[in-house]
Amino acid sequence: THFGYRQIDEQEKAEKVAGVFNRVARRYDLMNDLMSAGLHRAWKAFAATQAAIRKGFKVLDIAGGTGDLALSFARQAGDTGQVWLTDINESMLRLGRDKLLNQGYLVPVVTCDAEQLPFPDNYFDRVSVSFGLRNMTRKEVALSEMNRVLKPGGKLLILEFSRIWKPLQSLYDRYSFSVLPWLGRQVAQDADSYRYLAESIRMHPDQESLLQMLQEAGFVGVKYFNLTAGVAALHTGLKL
Ligand code: SAM
Repeated sequence: THFGYRQIDEQEKAEKVAGVFNRVARRYDLMNDLMSAGLHRAWKAFAATQAAIRKGFKVLDIAGGTGDLALSFARQAGDTGQVWLTDINESMLRLGRDKLLNQGYLVPVVTCDAEQLPFPDNYFDRVSVSFGLRNMTRKEVALSEMNRVLKPGGKLLILEFSRIWKPLQSLYDRYSFSVLPWLGRQVAQDADSYRYLAESIRMHPDQESLLQMLQEAGFVGVKYFNLTAGVAALHTGLKL
């Protein structure tokens, strides 16, 4: 049946994603810097500014992996705040937890799937996902979970690769389908994972489609910011 086919497809995708992140975890930070020429730091800094976190806020970082966003959030939320670092993959989560500990922040860490968040309704002031939504199998389920755990008036932030400005598309395709796998081979001895990355970027919904998905999941005041000509985009929305 169509449903059966979809199930196998989804399981395959989940397994593939787990494999990729188990393999790349060790070299993840270095690869991020090399691939984006350090730009991912600026994109994350921008997301952290837009999050406008105040002291005492409860913040959930989903697919937090390397802990980059959670670290900025922990700095902003102060001692009275709560920042939860979560990811489906333990190798990635360990990396993030250690990074925060090295900076003097002890945050609660939970291994969980974004499609089934182990948190009560209306709990968080902010929910973020940075470069994680692309890997999720049922994005609409994950988005409605994010909506559920946010407080009314709470803000969702999604940082993700997006659709680059059209005139630069063919140059960018050449970069992502030849330079990325080459870099992956040189640095992480793993061209396949980086070929997967290029494919997943191409398959991901563009700015307007993601905006619509956020609206369908119940978010209001949804908008996006193009970053570096649309290589990445930050989408934000509020829970009613
Ligand atoms: N947020 C970090 C950053 O921006 O550097 C890590 C991003 S990394 C590209 C993507 C992360 O998404 C991985 O750590 C992976 O384990 C996680 N992930 C994939 N599918 C997930 C899911 N269904 N639920 C939660 N995390 C997931």
